[in-house]
Amino acid sequence: MSAEKAFVKDCLFCRIAAGEIPAKTVYQDEDVLAFQDIQPQAPQHVLIIPRRHIADSLNDLRTEDEQVLLKLFYAARTIARELGIEQSGYRLLTNTGRNAGQSVFHMHFHLLGGAPLGLFGAPRRSSASE
Ligand code: AMP
Ligand code: ZN
Repeated sequence: MSAEKAFVKDCLFCRIAAGEIPAKTVYQDEDVLAFQDIQPQAPQHVLIIPRRHIADSLNDLRTEDEQVLLKLFYAARTIARELGIEQSGYRLLTNTGRNAGQSVFHMHFHLLGGAPLGLFGAPRRSSASE
């Protein structure tokens, strides 16, 4: 993904980052935006995205984006602290591709917490494939 494609007009998260679609922001800086997931899977469920469309998924992340990637991790830590779940615990994950159920192809992390989280990684009977 080249620098000039930093904004993808049909991308939901690019449009949220541009302010075209509203979201409940919980954190922002010049490179990172975080907002509440519209369909929360835990009492606290925040999406942490790079403002620029640096990659569709982890698969096409480039080494030159490493600073932004680091900022996403630090943002996660800050958000966990601000949400008061730093000590109780939380999960940070990125879905990559079909079998992981990725639905928005603007690379992002989910921050989940606020209660004991279930196990994950078990195949779904209907949709698992290689
Ligand atoms: P993934 O399935 O890993 O690509 O994650 C995409 C996430 O975006 C899902 O958890 C959706 O619930 C969430 N989502 C979809 N539309 C919106 C929206 N307009 N605002 C906030 N979260 C959204
Ligand atoms: Zn995007």
